Amino acid sequence: MADRPTDPVFLNQPCTDSLRLINLINQALRTDPIVLSPDAQRICDTIMGARPDFLLLVDVNGVIHFATDACESLFGISALALEGRPFASLLQVTDQQNFSRFLHDRIAPMAGQSFAQLGPIDLRIKLQGGERREFPSWVALRVGSVDMLQPASAQVSLFFFSLMDITHREAEEERILHQLNFDALTGLPSRYNLISSVEKHIETISASAQAKPFVFVFFDLDRFKTVNDALGHRIGDEFLAALCQRLKASLAPEHIFVRFGGDEFILFLPTVDNLNEASTLCLQALDLMRQPIDVAGYTLSCGASFGLAHYPDHGRTIDSLIEAADTAMYHIKSQDSGGCAVYDPAMRTERFSQLQLEQELREALSRDEFTAYYQPMVDLATGKVVGAEALARWNHQRLGLLGPKDFLALAEQAGLVRKIDTRVQAEALTVAAVWRQQGHDITLSLNSSAAQIESRGFLRSIEALCVAAEYPFDRLKIELTEQALVRQVELAAANIQALRNRGVKVAIDDFGKGYSSLTYLRQFPVDVLKIDQTFIQDIQTSRDAKAGVTLADVVIAMAKGLGLTLIAEGVEYPAQIEYLRQQACDQAQGFLFSEPCDAAQMTKVLAAGSFAKELQAAAQVSKAES
Ligand code: C2E
Ligand code: MG
Ligand code: MG
Repeated sequence: MADRPTDPVFLNQPCTDSLRLINLINQALRTDPIVLSPDAQRICDTIMGARPDFLLLVDVNGVIHFATDACESLFGISALALEGRPFASLLQVTDQQNFSRFLHDRIAPMAGQSFAQLGPIDLRIKLQGGERREFPSWVALRVGSVDMLQPASAQVSLFFFSLMDITHREAEEERILHQLNFDALTGLPSRYNLISSVEKHIETISASAQAKPFVFVFFDLDRFKTVNDALGHRIGDEFLAALCQRLKASLAPEHIFVRFGGDEFILFLPTVDNLNEASTLCLQALDLMRQPIDVAGYTLSCGASFGLAHYPDHGRTIDSLIEAADTAMYHIKSQDSGGCAVYDPAMRTERFSQLQLEQELREALSRDEFTAYYQPMVDLATGKVVGAEALARWNHQRLGLLGPKDFLALAEQAGLVRKIDTRVQAEALTVAAVWRQQGHDITLSLNSSAAQIESRGFLRSIEALCVAAEYPFDRLKIELTEQALVRQVELAAANIQALRNRGVKVAIDDFGKGYSSLTYLRQFPVDVLKIDQTFIQDIQTSRDAKAGVTLADVVIAMAKGLGLTLIAEGVEYPAQIEYLRQQACDQAQGFLFSEPCDAAQMTKVLAAGSFAKELQAAAQVSKAES
């Protein structure tokens, strides 16, 4: 018997526990005074060091010999009263049998051995309501480990049961599992849930002799980001939840509707094997989504783009089906029409080249491949060149010179448009400053994306560019294109006003082309309207000029009525000039005068200085025709 003193770890336990336990062990070991054998010491260290919630010493028959004070809170019976009771009597009936089997199979074989350690053992048991225990009436326990104390001199085998209360842990596990399987906002099954159910479904059907095909749909809300940006995430969330509820109610119970993430969803249609039927179902869903919903005083509706994939034609695994349906969705989305599309392998190539282009766009910025082209703006009364509009071009290494239609939308999606704007603007201001030094008193027009106009640092960034280029504010015009939807209207309006206060002119570009022209006019204080090319194209010949110019008439009259400067875009024919002059339109730009050209070419145009000859010729052509 070793004569080591009692280990302090042991004594760190609550005093009464320690003394009672030491007493008990001493009785068992028949030792005197208070010392523990190295074996007993090791076991006690292990058990106490693991800091179990509750500790019991139980004999081979399951009778309790010792319980820590804390056990009272668990069993509702005082620690002393627990001594002598069979542990099984504390358990629910169903667990009593489990426990006896456990005693018989695991504990009994160890009895009589000089030393043994079992564990950890995962035995989940539920307790009966104790005498003083109110709620909850049961507790889930985990027997973490069982250790045996049986020195040669002892008559009884004692087993340490270290118990942990896992009630909360179980509830937590359940909560986590629920979170994993269901989306908190919409209550719809989650991506995780979908993956396991589709995998199971595929496993089942592929094991059966006749694999039953099905359709898998990926869809994404159109312009949902606008709702979030304009009205805030709370209203965005409410709208999304209401939309999902409506959609869910319209679907048959066997159709699985899943929130994949953000505004992306999946419809797994295990009973639909026909793509036409699935398309009809998607279009019905789309109709439903387009019907307005009232949220927090706003009336909101939303479009969506659906991509359809067929099992097994388009994919045999969940991953390949998601990818195929997502590719089809991406395809229909890029068409800007909404609706649905069935996957086709050609779409993958198209998407790949889009992705590649996006990557190239980033690289192009770092390699400085963007530049400005210029188009002269002509005063219709005198023919003088009074301005130049800077237009972005991308000197693509492989594809040559690209115009904005090839990359602007993508740049907007990829969040790169502001960088491109700034790059083009900086170059144009530097070039235009040189023109001014050469004596050309023109106004430089810069196109600005909505992202730029509604950014907080917009004024500072334009100021910095002007200062760096030594270009005066009052010879600058900013064109706000209507296609780029402004979301932060107040911020944009404040920026526009601040620019005007500094003497910068502001124009609404492509006026009349989209539905928001008039709204913009109300929201933003501007100086200039640029009539969209489509109105000018209507005036292609003098014959057309007499017949169908009513829309252009209206736009021009309105701009004049508001006292705004009016610029016509896309002038290609003499008759158009004549018409515009008669309507007292101020300026024009278009291929008739000059196509957009590089800085060197534009310098020549400025040196020539005037298109008065073209105006005269136009007047003569027009007279001859009438
Ligand atoms: P925009 O500002 O309305 O520019 C006029 C567009 O019409 C230019 O197209 C120009 O090449 C074209 N155009 C000019 N005259 C004629 C004509 O007589 N007939 C025809 N059919 N077209 C004519 P481009 O350069 O392709 O630019 C397209 C649009 O891209 C611009 O329309 C503008 O909205 C946007 N954009 C151009 N540069 C930038 C830029 O640096 N930043 C931003 N955010 N947008 C830009
Ligand atoms: Mg423009
Ligand atoms: Mg325009």
